Amino acid sequence: MAQEDVFKKIVAHAKEYGFVFPSSEIYDGLSAVYDYGQNGVELKNNIKRYWWEAMTLLHENIVGIDSAIFMHPTIWKASGHVDAFNDPLIDNRDSKKRYRADVLIEEQIAKIDEKIEKEVAKAAKRFGEAFDREQFLSTNARVAELKAHRDALHERFSQAMNDNDLEGLRQIIIDEEIVDPISGTRNWTEVRQFNLMFRTEMGSTADGAMTVYLRPETAQGIFVNYLNVQKTGRMRIPFGIAQIGKAFRNEIVARQFIFRMREFEQMEMQFFVRPGEEMRWFAYWKEWRLRWHKALGLGDEKYRYHDHEKLAHYANAATDIEFQMPFGFKEVEGIHSRTDFDLSQHEKFSGKKIQYFDPELNSSYTPYVIETSIGVDRMFLSVLCSSYEEEQLENGETRTVLHLPAALAPVKCAVLPLVRKDGLPEKARAIVNDLKFDFATHYEEKDAIGKRYRRQDAIGTPYCITVDHQTLEDDTVTLRERDSMQQTRVPVADLHRLIHDRVSLNSLLRKLN
Ligand code: ATP
Repeated sequence: MAQEDVFKKIVAHAKEYGFVFPSSEIYDGLSAVYDYGQNGVELKNNIKRYWWEAMTLLHENIVGIDSAIFMHPTIWKASGHVDAFNDPLIDNRDSKKRYRADVLIEEQIAKIDEKIEKEVAKAAKRFGEAFDREQFLSTNARVAELKAHRDALHERFSQAMNDNDLEGLRQIIIDEEIVDPISGTRNWTEVRQFNLMFRTEMGSTADGAMTVYLRPETAQGIFVNYLNVQKTGRMRIPFGIAQIGKAFRNEIVARQFIFRMREFEQMEMQFFVRPGEEMRWFAYWKEWRLRWHKALGLGDEKYRYHDHEKLAHYANAATDIEFQMPFGFKEVEGIHSRTDFDLSQHEKFSGKKIQYFDPELNSSYTPYVIETSIGVDRMFLSVLCSSYEEEQLENGETRTVLHLPAALAPVKCAVLPLVRKDGLPEKARAIVNDLKFDFATHYEEKDAIGKRYRRQDAIGTPYCITVDHQTLEDDTVTLRERDSMQQTRVPVADLHRLIHDRVSLNSLLRKLN
């Protein structure tokens, strides 16, 4: 099945099984805004809990905060967002559609890369075992031509972005003969800058209302609380502050389901270090964050780093952790070395001294910062996409199953009486009452047992517990495991231990220690 179709199925599945709904759906939806349903919210909360506990429990020098979404507007002046949190946009006059000029060019570069890969695949097929990829890339004339074109285009693009050269971006789109995918024409407008922050007003107009912004990132709430936390927590450098919260961006083109939303959630951690030690800590967090991802077991080959060549003016290193989505490798998390830019800016704009006295060095300095920033919704999407399978069974049937990491699954076990009589429902309820304090447990008695198994498979429940007549005699049940569908007879008394071993967050966290 084409990846595009797989993705459509995943989106439909997310809705059908109560994971993600389009926002305001009965009013035909609101573009790029989504609601999480009864299963989605549990999965999302489990992702957040995994992050929060991994960051704060496993690092004794990291604490959390929860700052407000509204902040003093000068914060966004100091951070650079008022002046520079822009995307270059371009319209097509025929389709009346709006695009990000930089994305159109990036897609063009990706197309050339794809062409190169096609040449490689063709040659690999032709030469078989004897194929040497590196040699082919360096000697084939067609590839050399494509590579030269790609590199020149990339260079021109980076230059235009660095220089904020909007006319230059437009010229690239013209020269590359990029067409609008909808109208198929090259009837482009000028390129304009568009600020991504949402604004609103605080206070009544009679009092003189103040323009405030919905925060486009949670990080600034951490920076402006740096002094509060450092002093009240008596924190010593190096230390970190973590936060999970909503962020808002008026994205020009919001596509790909919950990958790019206008209201989303971030999990960010700012780690404050001595100037000069930032590269060591950057390397540490780059490695540690990837370990956090890989511990979920979604497949190590699905991740890659993408080191930034073009750095923001305040950064001295940056990398993305990319995940293989059905629509290609995409950024899920960013790790940035932000120097002392943010704290210095806030010191300048607020007039308050933001320094750290280092008792070991006997001197004061503005700490440097390593940031790890991950989108909850993108993480959710990567978990969902890599867990979804339409599995062909030996009996010729297909079952749709979510192989969710057990610790993240919305429901950990379902207790199912085989029939709705003979005291089986009562026995099943008694088991639920015992397990529910430790695990999200479902009770289900409707429909044939096979159908109930399928429903639990579709929401990724790791275990089904079936209560039958034998249970009443010897206090044993059938424990069915989601992925292997294997059923084993186990004593009711062992259930807690057996389930706990697999589904607890604890076991996931231990992998990171
Ligand atoms: P992109 O290049 O995809 O726009 P970004 O580099 O602007 O992302 P950051 O500002 O580094 O993103 O934000 C950190 C993380 O927040 C991203 O890695 C991503 O997971 C998440 N994120 C950013 N924008 C969105 C969005 N519009 N919808 C959902 N998640 C987002």
